[in-house]
Amino acid sequence: MNTPFDQLTDSIRQLPGIGPRQARRIAYFIVRKDKSWVHSLSETLRQARAEVAECMWCRRLFPTAYAAPACTVCTDSSRDAHTLLVVEKDVDLENVEKTGVYTGRYFVLGGTVSLLDKEPEKKVRIRSLEQLIFNKDRDVREIILALSATTEGEDTAVFLKERLTPLLQNHPLTLRVLGRGLSTGTELEYVDADTMQSALKGRT
Ligand SMILES: [Zn+2]
Repeated sequence: MNTPFDQLTDSIRQLPGIGPRQARRIAYFIVRKDKSWVHSLSETLRQARAEVAECMWCRRLFPTAYAAPACTVCTDSSRDAHTLLVVEKDVDLENVEKTGVYTGRYFVLGGTVSLLDKEPEKKVRIRSLEQLIFNKDRDVREIILALSATTEGEDTAVFLKERLTPLLQNHPLTLRVLGRGLSTGTELEYVDADTMQSALKGRT
């Protein structure tokens, strides 16, 4: 039977980048802390989960304190509504935003696919992306793929191009890929303003 400690280890194991041995080590770290520390951690987790919502347009998570169905980027009329930067995850969006050089809108795909996947549409939000780009009110005219320079990122770009290109035939929409001033394997997570600027200029 799984003890609560085993269950804790399993939950930690599901975090990104955590292997079985690290999960065990973190689980021991947690249960060795004071009861008050553990209580505060569980309360913080509960609150953090309760106070975010998914934006109806870009699918990023944003604080529900705004009491709106869409995030501040999607509702900001001073931003370029015609350009959509497609990123893999929330943290990529956050990092591009921090560089301050991108003025368009976003879409958070929610992951990557492999060309070997039988049902890739279950791993990324392709349907939501299609709905967004063909929604007349949103008036998207350019889609820029900003995926990791990794095998998964490249496979995902191939999948999106195959999926979107036939749909773009009758729409005044262009599909581009973010130029890479980034060395191979560098992810958007570590992008700085200069690199982002040259990557945006070098989109092809
Ligand atoms: Zn949004």
